[in-house]
Amino acid sequence: MEKKWLGQTKCDFCGDDVKSHQIFFDAKTTCNGAWALVCGRCFVIHGLGRLGTGWGQMYDGKTLQRIGGGGDVRRTSAEND
Ligand SMILES: [Zn+2]
Repeated sequence: MEKKWLGQTKCDFCGDDVKSHQIFFDAKTTCNGAWALVCGRCFVIHGLGRLGTGWGQMYDGKTLQRIGGGGDVRRTSAEND
């Protein structure tokens, strides 16, 4: 099932428009496990390196479609921890 990101598109850490990144995440972060919208770059720094239920979802920056984390994770380099 495809799901589209409909929320705001400003990275909670660097303020970048996440649409200018190839991928972005709605995920738990190192910030006390708080959820945040993070661009691909900040996910490497502030993300927990994990996706899925209770951890986070990955979205395509161009189409805003969910491409990972919802039980249909497509492996990318950004998922490495
Ligand atoms: Zn960022």
